[in-house]
Amino acid sequence: MNQIISQEQIRQTATRLAQEISAYYDDRLAEVIALVVLEGARPFADALLEQLHPEPTTYEIQVSSYQGTQSTGTVQIKNADAIEVAGKRVLILDDIYDTGRTIKVLQEVLIERGAAEIRTVVLLEKEREHETPVTVDFVGLKVPDLFLVGFGLDYNGRYRELDYIAELYDTS
Ligand code: IMP
Ligand code: MG
Repeated sequence: MNQIISQEQIRQTATRLAQEISAYYDDRLAEVIALVVLEGARPFADALLEQLHPEPTTYEIQVSSYQGTQSTGTVQIKNADAIEVAGKRVLILDDIYDTGRTIKVLQEVLIERGAAEIRTVVLLEKEREHETPVTVDFVGLKVPDLFLVGFGLDYNGRYRELDYIAELYDTS
């Protein structure tokens, strides 16, 4: 396991993003709906949201597109129906901006449901050409186009619990 980003770098990045987001929403954080894209974004969301005061109203949504190390190309949203976003300012929290498909689908669903404003924050952005370019308002760290694990990122459900981010080069 080849470490790419340390626990300390993640912590500092979450703090910087929390400052940027707090500054952006000024004193309106209480009105914001935060949507955490499970499973991957949970550790990031925990680290970020605890630094926002007051904490926005937070929902977790289940989205999946990866099988092993390959993006399947179709994005599934499982429990978005229950979330009331009409007229609200919504902040999408995701672990990584890779192809952009997940974020695109979410942004479209939120527009369809009448969200007043959509902003997106990711911990990581892969340095590659995004098949589906999207607007990401707050980016933590740019990372090389490798398959990464740790801090929420998994390989078939494994390695999510690592407190740092590593390149997975051995999938055996
Ligand atoms: P996108 O829709 O292709 O931008 O990818 C979004 C989702 O794929 C992310 O939220 C991750 O859950 C997953 N993903 C993308 N790249 C990686 C990776 O390198 N390791 C693990 N999961 C990844
Ligand atoms: Mg994800």
